Amino acid sequence: MPDSLSVVLQRTTCPYCGVGCGVEVLSADGGATVSVRGDAAHPANKGRLCSKGSALAESLSLPHRLTQPLRNGVPVSWDRALDDITARLRKVLATHGPEAVAFYGSGQLLTEDYYVLNKLAKGFIGTSNVDTNSRLCMASTVAGHKQSFGTDTVPGLYADWELADLVILVGSNAAWCHPVLFQRLLAARKSRGLKLVVLDPRQTSTTLEADLHLPLRGGSDIALFSGLLRAIAEAGAVKAEYVANHTRGFDEALAAAPDLATVATATGLSPVQIAAFYKLFVATPNVVTVFSQGINQSSHGSDSVSAILNVHLATGRIGTPGAGPFSITGQPNAMGGREVGGLANQLAAHMEFASDTDRDRVRRFWRAPNLAQKPGLKAVDMFQAAADGKLKFLWILATNPLASLPDADVVQAALERCPTVILSDCVADTETARYAHFLLPAATWGEKDGTVTNSERRISRQRAFRSPQGAAKPDWWALAQVGQRLGYGNAFAYTNAAAIFREHAGLSAFENGGRRDFDLSGAVELSDVSYDALPPFCWPWRAGDALGVETRFFANGGFFTPDGRARFIATGPTAPLSQTSPNFPLVLNTGRVRDQWHTMGRTGATPRLMNHQPRPTVSINLQDAAALGLTEGDLVRLTSAIGTAIRVAEITQDQPRGDVFASMHWNGAWCSGGAVGRVIAPNVDPLSGQPELKFTPVSLSRLLPRWQGYALLRDAPEILAHGDLPGLFWCKRPLGDAWVVEFWALPEQDGGPESHAAPDGALLLAALMGKAAADCVPLTVVDPARGRWRGAYLQRGKLVAALMLGPGPTLEQLLPFFAESDLADAQAVLAGRIAAPSAGPMVCACFQVSADRIRAAITSGEATSVEKIGALLKAGTNCGSCIPELKGFLRHADAPLVA
Ligand code: SF4
Repeated sequence: MPDSLSVVLQRTTCPYCGVGCGVEVLSADGGATVSVRGDAAHPANKGRLCSKGSALAESLSLPHRLTQPLRNGVPVSWDRALDDITARLRKVLATHGPEAVAFYGSGQLLTEDYYVLNKLAKGFIGTSNVDTNSRLCMASTVAGHKQSFGTDTVPGLYADWELADLVILVGSNAAWCHPVLFQRLLAARKSRGLKLVVLDPRQTSTTLEADLHLPLRGGSDIALFSGLLRAIAEAGAVKAEYVANHTRGFDEALAAAPDLATVATATGLSPVQIAAFYKLFVATPNVVTVFSQGINQSSHGSDSVSAILNVHLATGRIGTPGAGPFSITGQPNAMGGREVGGLANQLAAHMEFASDTDRDRVRRFWRAPNLAQKPGLKAVDMFQAAADGKLKFLWILATNPLASLPDADVVQAALERCPTVILSDCVADTETARYAHFLLPAATWGEKDGTVTNSERRISRQRAFRSPQGAAKPDWWALAQVGQRLGYGNAFAYTNAAAIFREHAGLSAFENGGRRDFDLSGAVELSDVSYDALPPFCWPWRAGDALGVETRFFANGGFFTPDGRARFIATGPTAPLSQTSPNFPLVLNTGRVRDQWHTMGRTGATPRLMNHQPRPTVSINLQDAAALGLTEGDLVRLTSAIGTAIRVAEITQDQPRGDVFASMHWNGAWCSGGAVGRVIAPNVDPLSGQPELKFTPVSLSRLLPRWQGYALLRDAPEILAHGDLPGLFWCKRPLGDAWVVEFWALPEQDGGPESHAAPDGALLLAALMGKAAADCVPLTVVDPARGRWRGAYLQRGKLVAALMLGPGPTLEQLLPFFAESDLADAQAVLAGRIAAPSAGPMVCACFQVSADRIRAAITSGEATSVEKIGALLKAGTNCGSCIPELKGFLRHADAPLVA
């Protein structure tokens, strides 16, 4: 750690998506003053950062940071907390056995955290109930890789995207979800002229860049790729030598492959569109097929992955520069988790429960007294087991399952029923935190040390550049402390992350001899100093190889199956588990938005990131909206077979008819009842256990609020969660220097008020401000006849809160009063004066350029290109994340954006 007076340049890695961008952090005052920029020396991003990465410095001061262990809400020392946790664990083990114990982790964990977690649970406690939110992200890719390759191996490198002549993006809005890689791809297209095909039901910022966009039906990718195998064979494009020497099962897979007419029926595409795509694939030797959550989050995700792998195996387009199937992970360390065995059906270091040899090898290496013998509970099953009373001890780390898993009611029941729930997290205001008996403060990005692996198998260091806040500790430390208290001191006597990494490398190398793909034998002797200075490198790093050798797999076969051959998997059209019906006629698709990350704990608290999509919306096709009588901004209820959620309508021509889209980010800590997990059924892929998050039949209905309003607060509101403020739908966000909470009073039948009269706003402000409300001088204007309640709260002469219920100025118009914030402003608030016109939604997060300003520049004729918009307004000139949207504005310059 740097001392508190020095100015230090530290190289680390972005904590968000699986691109794994290198970040340079300039920190002073012991990390109190920080700025970030892209690391030009990092091979993944070569100096670029997207809007989220560029805003990392602004996300360091998290509201409601957890700084001390809490037991049932009461602060306790670490020793006390760990002693109690260990005692409870011993009791559960003695009474119910290891199968009553479970751990639920996250792709946010560093590899070193993950390694200790996996070792403690599977080797010493004896439970394989170790799963993570990566189950929601890429478990189908793991299963698909393993059934086809024998191992979970990504064959290629990011450079292949740039070396390809054709890149196919499947189920991936890469422009928003993997922005820096997408920028690399666009740059390569500009210089080399490669073709880009995008398969996605929606029109997105990614499809806007496509040479060919195929808007296929949700969940039908498997039909398209299965049919492609037949097209390859019919065109005589099978690489017979590769198939004969390195694979098995081609004939069976070909026999199952559908014809063009069947593919057309399954996908909803025309035979002409499909044939054009097939022809392009057949004619282009250097093809990279990039797939992501649109493939994985499906009840047939594993087979969809294998359908993609099949066409690359059939053509031998794998593991050569510019060719191969390529999975991109959502999370920063989903790959690291896969490497240590951080899933319930994996052992460790790409070894398997099913192999007696692997189990024996891991047992001997760890000197493990209680090695688990079989796979454990996957995420959805784990929480169902807890809801059924079968789990007695559940330790959750760096994730918020109540916000992210499907069937949130079951997750809530699980957390309520399990007698010991421990949550290790860096913030205290997650929904899951409410149910935890123990809250353990975790060191977070910038405070912790370790490694992450990105989607191209590149291991990069995350380095600390500031001290952990309060009593926060690395997760590996807390886990190792419990291991030591259980009596396994020698096995968990780690003094730093480097020691854990060396052991992890040692296990990968142990009796490997080239038989396992995951091999870090070159790192076994790494000193602490070398670990500290470790540059980004791709695995395998085999003993004797120079650091930095970049390996591609499978160009000449060498699969990690018993006979060294890949397996073709017979696949054909497969429908999602649930289907639309007259009661649920629309398909809900879910995913990320450009400037948010997961459950918004970090990005949601960053004003410039929140401005891009400030409300929990549901995107609805123009015609569908018209048929339902919906207009932009209406409050909408989504209803599925298992539950309901509330969103704000966004009407768009980008959404296909019959489909609606809602982001996965919003949850009970940021809005009431808006989490999509409340409506998504726990349908899973039978092989991978990954939930079908992209295909939920729903209906929509308009909710007519009794009244609407909002509060502006100088400080972050008190912790609110789903179920607070009953009868209201609310959502919150930071805006400028303030925080906003918007309210809609639900209709009476939805628990809302009996009349349209605005309520006593003082109660609302008291809920939002907590004890701080008592120190304020309230000024209020109440007008029951007009359904108005306006309040301005002053603290030592400064405006600290305003509440507007009923008709009045918009919050954007009111916000500037908070800049001066004196009595005159309070009076202006009460009078409903407008301080500034609304700026409209923000498009450029870096320079805060609004949609209204961009439209005005285009309409004036001054901005006729992305470059000219940049020259005029600076939009798009920093991270480039908004460039696809700027192109969209230019293309739709004459078209109305909404109905
Ligand atoms: Fe972070 Fe953006 Fe890079 Fe992803 S693309 S790692 S979010 S900077």
